[in-house]
Amino acid sequence: MLYRAHLLSPGAPTRLDEVVDGGLRVDAGGRILAVGPFPALAAAQPTEAVADLRPFWILPGLVDLHSHLPQYECVALDGLELLPWLETHVFPAEARFRDPEVAARTAAGYFASQLALGTTTSVAYLTVHAEAADRAFQEAERCGIRAVLGKVMMDMHTPELLLEDTAASLAQSEELCRAWHGRDGGRLQYAFTPRFAPVCSRELMAGLAKAADRHNAYIQTHISESPGEIARVAELFPEARDYTDVYAAAGMLGPRTLLGHGIHLSPAERDRIRSSGATIVHCPRSNGFIKSGIMPLRRWLDEGLSVGLASDVGGGPSLDMWGEMAFACMSSKLRWAERRTQSARLDGLDLEPALRARLDAALDLAPDPPVTPAEAFHLATLGGARALGLEKVIGSLEPGKDADFIVVDPRVPDPAAARGPEPPELVLSRLVYRSDPAMIRATYVRGRRCHALEP
Ligand SMILES: [Zn+2]
Repeated sequence: MLYRAHLLSPGAPTRLDEVVDGGLRVDAGGRILAVGPFPALAAAQPTEAVADLRPFWILPGLVDLHSHLPQYECVALDGLELLPWLETHVFPAEARFRDPEVAARTAAGYFASQLALGTTTSVAYLTVHAEAADRAFQEAERCGIRAVLGKVMMDMHTPELLLEDTAASLAQSEELCRAWHGRDGGRLQYAFTPRFAPVCSRELMAGLAKAADRHNAYIQTHISESPGEIARVAELFPEARDYTDVYAAAGMLGPRTLLGHGIHLSPAERDRIRSSGATIVHCPRSNGFIKSGIMPLRRWLDEGLSVGLASDVGGGPSLDMWGEMAFACMSSKLRWAERRTQSARLDGLDLEPALRARLDAALDLAPDPPVTPAEAFHLATLGGARALGLEKVIGSLEPGKDADFIVVDPRVPDPAAARGPEPPELVLSRLVYRSDPAMIRATYVRGRRCHALEP
């Protein structure tokens, strides 16, 4: 099949590749065979079926690198910080997954919502319940989304309803990994999923690190999200140098490890994470919603850390990755503006240069330039693909990759669409800042249409 549309794909973090009258040739197995100007591709194979999608655009599907499927029903409940929010809203919602039917029903709505918003790769936490996890995988298999899922593991300091036996947690997780990791040609994969250090024993973390290694599976967990959480980790793991050291000591850090949040990391922790190849998953709206802080996105990128982007439902209020891109840009702008304001205040004090330099360092006033929509789009596509080691499979429109793409109507967020074509940076800026589900006309995963506004 040859799809005809305006093509837009991330080339590099600051470069967008576009083909105005483009063609995307996809084989029956859902692989991209060719990308380029439509007239040339059509002339090369004149008998091939053409799907003319003009005036819509084709973009690569989005990668949501961190979210909690069972928390879908408790999204957007305001008022609390991380630890009390978990106790009040999250644990009761997760306890309902002891009924596998609840899990299956929630998973169906959750994946359908992601596909409708243009997300083609869903990396998600489930609950401690093995049968519920199995049902969620079945639902992902059925609906066609690309998914990396894992049964949550927590064997200490946990409400009775969710508390696991260490050996049983390891055995059930490994069994699920055997059943699902690599299923359907790698469309479904497994992530060992210790919730975070405060609810996991050393034995559990060391055991799952070995199991993930044996199966070449992923590990996903949280790190350094809120000050209260960091203090709890210091209390529970007095032998550790810092939060990162807890995971490093367990053997959990590596290129297939996804660390959610990573807002308050020291330079030594960042060095260690970077050299391990692990990814920091930025969840900007969740960080705002739970009042955790503003992750210094520009700084982490400049330091060469692997960074991806995610919705973190239910800490984040929605599965919409366009909203996450917008908030990633806006929170980095607010961070920049706040630092400029503080610098101007210090300028007014006329301080000795040495004292001023110490204050600048203590208050972390280095001006990090804000992140652009093109960079946020890169994080939500190729950045996420790289974090998963799938940069040769998904993340952009390139021959040889799987045909995970979305059909977008750029007129929806444009109040003056009649004016005609604009540069791709401007179009993307509107898609990001004025996103609307009505702009996602259709979503394809490996060539299969998994969502469409019209039948
Ligand atoms: Zn999370």
